[in-house]
Amino acid sequence: MSKTVFITGGSGGIGSAAVRTFAGAGYNVAFTYNKNEAAAKALSAEIPGSLSLRCDVTDGESVKTAVNAALTHFGKIDVLINNAGIAEQILFTDITENRWDRMLDTNLKSCFLTAKAVIPQMISRKSGLVINVSSMWGITGASCEVHYSAAKSGVIGLSKALAKELGPSGIRVNAVAPGVIDTPMNSHLDENAMSMLKEEIPLGKIGRPEEVAGAMLFLAENEYITGQVITVDGGMVI
Ligand code: NDP
Repeated sequence: MSKTVFITGGSGGIGSAAVRTFAGAGYNVAFTYNKNEAAAKALSAEIPGSLSLRCDVTDGESVKTAVNAALTHFGKIDVLINNAGIAEQILFTDITENRWDRMLDTNLKSCFLTAKAVIPQMISRKSGLVINVSSMWGITGASCEVHYSAAKSGVIGLSKALAKELGPSGIRVNAVAPGVIDTPMNSHLDENAMSMLKEEIPLGKIGRPEEVAGAMLFLAENEYITGQVITVDGGMVI
């Protein structure tokens, strides 16, 4: 029986690359979108047999509904990829309580909500993998991204703690920490900002979403790796 992966944020840059990569490796794929229905429709048309589901990852009921639809359709979820997220560059003094909550809810609470919905059936089968998408800023911290950095650090803490708790149940939990990746999330950066960033990257180039998706598949295929943070960042964090 084929394995099933559940990917949040499949309508975005890294998420859609993950959908294509796991489908190409023979997985059944369920993926979520929030606002970008057009991208989700186009992707499900491209990947026959995939299931696209609308889901707001900040809302526990919405998450449960999407996860249950995937479980009904495919029977089980072997791999959960918590990829949906938002970023924002803003001075610390301008971060309002609402902005803080939105950032933490979308990037961190979402990982808690999906894990709560998906993990019980993994525990019953004594098998499963969770991959949480952090960021290099979750490791080093970024100026003007205090709320984002805090959320992505939280993703790492959550991943390590869950890996310890769920290892005895046969479930692995890892994180990937991308550097600067060419996706819509970075579309606000102009050419000048991009070339300044490139100068800071030892490999001298921006990453591709497929490279992050490749690291996710590597984690899925290597069953002795748990509690790790894999950076995919051209050497930004060494
Ligand atoms: P995109 O902006 O391309 O995609 C973001 C995805 O998240 C979209 O599918 C979007 O759905 C979804 N999303 C946003 N808010 C919600 C919500 N409330 N509920 C459900 N889904 C939501 O970004 P990337 O592909 O670049 O980012 C993917 C992940 O990688 C994020 O967690 C990001 O923080 C992380 N990352 C990205 C880096 C980069 O340089 N690009 C670097 C480091 C980490 P929709 O569009 O349908 O609303």
